[in-house]
Amino acid sequence: SKAKLFDEKTDTKTSFKDVAGLEGAKEEVQEIVDFLKYPEKYTSLGGKIPKGALLVGPPGTGKTLLAKAVAGEAKVPFFSLSGSDFVEMFVGVGASRVRDLFKQAKEKSPSIIFIDEIDAIGRARGKNNFSGSNDERENTLNQLLTEMDGFGTNTNVIVLAATNRADVLDSALMRAGRFDRQIYVDLPDVRERKEIFEVHLRPLKKEESLDIDFLAKQTPGFSGADIANVCNEAALIAARKGKKAVNKQDFLDAVDRIIGGLEKKNKIIT
Ligand code: ATP
Repeated sequence: SKAKLFDEKTDTKTSFKDVAGLEGAKEEVQEIVDFLKYPEKYTSLGGKIPKGALLVGPPGTGKTLLAKAVAGEAKVPFFSLSGSDFVEMFVGVGASRVRDLFKQAKEKSPSIIFIDEIDAIGRARGKNNFSGSNDERENTLNQLLTEMDGFGTNTNVIVLAATNRADVLDSALMRAGRFDRQIYVDLPDVRERKEIFEVHLRPLKKEESLDIDFLAKQTPGFSGADIANVCNEAALIAARKGKKAVNKQDFLDAVDRIIGGLEKKNKIIT
């Protein structure tokens, strides 16, 4: 069951059109798309293409989506793994997974490696994390640093990593030639929430009169993932009532349900 430690996908379906809002972040990752597509253009004057960038922001804001869209736009394979997969790993396994991952990504270059929840492996070394598996985590982190340093300038593999805790990361990760770029992926404002609703309303049968501005205003603090959830819940609520189209009330009921869920989650954390 622990066999699947990284996924390889050539995902040409996800594009920047699927990522609503996040204009600044999209602009920054557009550059990465160009590095992957036209490496010679960038190295022709002796410059080095960056090896990694860190996507930093709260849960559900579209970091994974954005990384997939980079691969989709550049039409390159997307290799991904999650830092949390390493938490219960046997000694020596983490480092060898990292080695395998980079080996495969290099063989298929140009390519993207995406490491979700990098904080699970990338916490500052030497700080007690009470898990008892510190050594293994450090080995995994050291292997990651070694792999990134081992890239030649023309390897053409770019490593994107996501975290919502950039503050706990080992500063070695952020050193030049590693994750030396940070891209902020924030919670959406009201205008961005409207754009996210538009993306997730596309597949739904909804009433003509549905006011998307109203929905955006009713959802302060919601992430893109929460909004995707609201749209899906609303469709299910309407279907359960035997309706032919989703209406405003279904959305309001869905919003209430999601808020209820979020409150429960927060209670467990604190
Ligand atoms: P986490 O930190 O929890 O891993 P994340 O930032 O990687 O979260 P995603 O997994 O990319 O978030 O987002 C989950 C889902 O929420 C996406 O697949 C998408 O359906 C929706 N979503 C999030 N942000 C956006 C956005 N900006 N535009 C459109 N959809 C979004």
